[in-house]
Amino acid sequence: MSDLKLWNTLTRELETFAPLVPGEVRMYSCGPTVYNNPHIGNLRTFLWSDLLRRYLEFRGLRVRQVMNITDVEDKIIRNANAAGKDIDTYTAPFIVSFHESLALLRIRPADSYPRATEFIPQMVDLVNQLTSRGHTYVADGSTYFKVASLPQYGRLSQVEIDRSSEYSRIENDEYEKESARDFVLWKAKKENEPSWQTELGEGRPGWHLECSAMSMQLLGDTFDIHTGAVDLIFPHHENEIAQSEGATGKTFVRYWVHGEHLNIDAQKMSKSLGNIYSLPEIIELGHDPLTLRYALLSVPHRTKLNFTMQSLDDAKSALNRIESFLIRLDELSKSAPHDAKHSDGHADQLIGRFLIDFESAMDDDLNTAGAFGALFSLIRDANIAIDAGRISAGDAEGLKAALMKIDPVLDIFPKRDTVLAAEIEALIEARQAARKSRNFAESDRIRDELLAKGIMLEDTAAGVRWRRK
Ligand code: AMP
Ligand code: ZN
Repeated sequence: MSDLKLWNTLTRELETFAPLVPGEVRMYSCGPTVYNNPHIGNLRTFLWSDLLRRYLEFRGLRVRQVMNITDVEDKIIRNANAAGKDIDTYTAPFIVSFHESLALLRIRPADSYPRATEFIPQMVDLVNQLTSRGHTYVADGSTYFKVASLPQYGRLSQVEIDRSSEYSRIENDEYEKESARDFVLWKAKKENEPSWQTELGEGRPGWHLECSAMSMQLLGDTFDIHTGAVDLIFPHHENEIAQSEGATGKTFVRYWVHGEHLNIDAQKMSKSLGNIYSLPEIIELGHDPLTLRYALLSVPHRTKLNFTMQSLDDAKSALNRIESFLIRLDELSKSAPHDAKHSDGHADQLIGRFLIDFESAMDDDLNTAGAFGALFSLIRDANIAIDAGRISAGDAEGLKAALMKIDPVLDIFPKRDTVLAAEIEALIEARQAARKSRNFAESDRIRDELLAKGIMLEDTAAGVRWRRK
């Protein structure tokens, strides 16, 4: 096997990936801000993060993935207030629908989904650590990070900071590239905002703080991979590095992996253009979620993806081609006794070539276009060979086995008889989220949905177990 190369935003280089602890990868992915249903751009980012994890596992590594849920932040508070709800009640259905979208897209659940509101003490500790190392100051009851106190600030995003204008303060969670200044760690309480009484005073955390606190709490001070889309490089990830490295003095993340955006019909998705789609809306338009999975996966994560409805129709044809091929292999392997046709070694050559091409494409910064190319070359060449009578029943079995080998990575094959374990686990995650927010109607609905798929749930002290009926 060749080396896996990943583009690291921090070094602007394609680097060979090697985890800090041999055999084990620790990975943090910025998750959803739960003030609406995830749109298909968000889903694209979650999908390739899962693909990265699946491919690391394919290479024999164990992966621990954490994805946060941002459940307190400016937009959430604004929307919750407008809806006359507290933030927990407001965000609960969006957390459930987030897990449901992942399940439908066969995105496997992360190992944990920490919520910002559940890690306030760790965030306060982190701010205290930063204060003891001289990186903070307090103004009007809020605590700020002093950007000029950290020499490496700006390295990830390569933004130029004006160090002369120290103490110009940015309070909101997101700001523009030109205004790299001191950012808020802990915001003093304002009227009509949720707040926590802590030793930093009554207030709430800034958005950036949660990811530093939760990732280090769950994965350690230094971990391997951090993912997100390019919009997070600045200020969010730059500020995470500042908070974490400022507090520990150690390297925070070794590989920063960022994906490009999804645009729709060559335009940015925006409310005013009315071109934001969630997965339920795509389904409503008559598309199978698997076609979206295929369309999103077939463009490598560092390439901008121009989404069109046509791309879902194209995906459907591609998936049909795969399905027909699988059916053909099934028939071949069943129809003749294994020695009916003598294998001439051609299938083994095709399989060997396919696996090499698949792996070298994926090793090249997860080049999924190349990986799908390898798959369709195999299908084309094997179909020609079948037509020429060169594929024995044993060869057909071998071809199926080769496809099953890459199935855990791409996961785009039709599942006719059985529901996928990943889908079940993601639905269980959605049900847990519904229960946590005491939305028992929804949790019952998900249990019934699983039951309809032949899956029984059992609540045990060790968590939820499932089995097939
Ligand atoms: P949010 O829910 O806004 O916090 O975003 C969740 C994830 O989706 C983050 O990693 C964002 O960078 C990413 N994201 C936001 N917009 C897009 C887009 N148009 N295409 C791809 N990823 C996006
Ligand atoms: Zn984050």
